[in-house]
Amino acid sequence: MIKVENLSKKYGDLTVLKGISTEIQKGEVVSIIGPSGTGKSTFLRCLNLLDQPSGGSITIDSKNILDSQTDVAKIRQRMNMVFQSFNLFSHLSVLENLTLAPIKLKGISKEEAEKKSMDLLRLVGLAEKADNYPDELSGGQKQRIAIARCLAMEPEIILFDEPTSALDPTMVSEVLSVIRRLAKEGMTMAIVTHEMAFARDVSNRVFYMDQGLIYEEGTPAQIFDAPQKERTQAFINRVRNLVFTINSQDFDLYALNAEFELFCEKQFLTKKLRDNALLVIEELLMMYKPFLNGLALRLTVAYSEKNELLDLICETEGSQFNPLENAQLPDEIGLNLIKSFTSNIDFVWSNNINKLKITIKK
Ligand code: ADP
Ligand code: MG
Repeated sequence: MIKVENLSKKYGDLTVLKGISTEIQKGEVVSIIGPSGTGKSTFLRCLNLLDQPSGGSITIDSKNILDSQTDVAKIRQRMNMVFQSFNLFSHLSVLENLTLAPIKLKGISKEEAEKKSMDLLRLVGLAEKADNYPDELSGGQKQRIAIARCLAMEPEIILFDEPTSALDPTMVSEVLSVIRRLAKEGMTMAIVTHEMAFARDVSNRVFYMDQGLIYEEGTPAQIFDAPQKERTQAFINRVRNLVFTINSQDFDLYALNAEFELFCEKQFLTKKLRDNALLVIEELLMMYKPFLNGLALRLTVAYSEKNELLDLICETEGSQFNPLENAQLPDEIGLNLIKSFTSNIDFVWSNNINKLKITIKK
């Protein structure tokens, strides 16, 4: 239905979209997830030409809509958008909000537009609010009106940009239920959302966007249960990182400990996990210490909120070197201590990087 090739978007010197290529088929529901600032909104806005793309092509029915002959208003009707902030006209009644565009842009009679709008209000459960004004409605109701108004243009695809993120938590589900219903009825949709459980059960495909690209895409099961790439994994498992770079034997252990404790507090780590980790960090640093003049150690503390796992990742550059298997300096006591407080130890050496990953016992 829509084919996007090498789509890019720049704002001045800032490249926000770095060449997006994908296709969306009729009847598909695509969820778009990813950290904020990665270009999710810009991608949707470029799709329906609210923003002019800087390069690439968007093809609908084998026509490139980035051609100058394109009727932009028509494209926006076919790919109508629902915004985070509703964008309703406050001086118009609910019914007038729905009928305005069909009468003006589609040339439909007032009577017919009103009849159809009432059907749509019934669909979103708000027929009895037809004569109210937006300010008399709750956020969840306003967003359902916005969805009905979008449907009034009979779009072929609806683009949702974080439709529930401006709502009170109590109102999220009434809006998601309406979107679920549209999905069941076969509406083609692209939904930017932070509601992971919803994205998982409503969509056929999930795009994980990161730094201006679709970094990984797959079925909900692939993306949520078995993401293949590093940044997707970190996002899905809600990993929080704390990174230390240590490149001298005289590093400040007290400062490191203090920063680590603060991190643990922020992430609500259990005392046991924190104490175990502190012991292991101290032993590890003892093992690296003799090599630290000349060797830079990058220590990452990574906590996965989802799995409640704390990993310590030690990276050094150069030829293969694992301090836990250092024949010249056998430190059996330290090694046993580390082993008794960890549930998994992994070592890989590739591309001249030594990566030792230690999972702390819970
Ligand atoms: P997301 O929706 O994933 O949070 P956005 O698409 O809103 O990300 O923004 C991506 C980047 O583009 C951000 O760095 C943002 O500051 C920048 N950006 C978005 N809109 C504009 C604009 N109109 N002018 C300049 N920069 C913008
Ligand atoms: Mg956004």
